[in-house]
Amino acid sequence: MCTSILDDPAALAEVISDTNAASAPADPTLLSDIATANRILFREGVVDAFGHVSARHDKHPDRFLLARNMAPALVTDSDIVTFDFDGRAFDAQGRGVYLERFIHAEIYRARPDVMAVVHSHSAAVVPFGIVKNLPFRAVCHMGGFIGICAPIFEIRDVAGDETDLLIRNSMLGAALAKSLGDSNVVLMRGHGSTVIGNRLRQAVFRAVYTENNARLQAEGLRLGPITYLSEGEARTTARVIDMQVDRAWDLWKMQAEGKI
Ligand code: MN
Repeated sequence: MCTSILDDPAALAEVISDTNAASAPADPTLLSDIATANRILFREGVVDAFGHVSARHDKHPDRFLLARNMAPALVTDSDIVTFDFDGRAFDAQGRGVYLERFIHAEIYRARPDVMAVVHSHSAAVVPFGIVKNLPFRAVCHMGGFIGICAPIFEIRDVAGDETDLLIRNSMLGAALAKSLGDSNVVLMRGHGSTVIGNRLRQAVFRAVYTENNARLQAEGLRLGPITYLSEGEARTTARVIDMQVDRAWDLWKMQAEGKI
């Protein structure tokens, strides 16, 4: 009999039992910002029906906050679930959760400096994960945080060539976090990309400008050889542009709320 992975309701989400451990409630403003981040990322074309954004828990640094399994644009404060770094939920209450929560879990575990993570399949970035010998790198000051060569995670290196390419367990998440290293962006071959930030707004900003940089780099390559940002330019622009993150957030938030 011929079966499709899509026939299996557990294939793209799963229902898990909550742990019994106590968990202090997260700051309501943080929950609201995560819901806003989901809508911004949808409006900016980074996520569609898929992709997700998380933030480290403000009261439990060894936990993180991520929506239940659903389309990002529909996320509200009450859809956000608390997880530990083993992917266990505290308050899913029977609601389905994202299979790929291990992306977030293992990056938070590996990188204490990371406070927010965006995972997406944003379309312009994917080609740079599948073409050999063509580094994805900063072409414009707004993408300086990408640096001079974003790492590419090759799932075959750790799990063979018959996976569904999803980061569906701790082992795969840890391997992805290792590929990310101390970078801000990691491409995932044949899948998408993951972007980190030292705060939620920064991760959202970087996810938007990762997609933007990919479009610009591809356009540039069609015209001729590119003069890329140097390592020093990437570092300097990243530092300066980072001071403008709130300006973008304020605009995108207003748009996401339909106020402008
Ligand atoms: Mn994915």
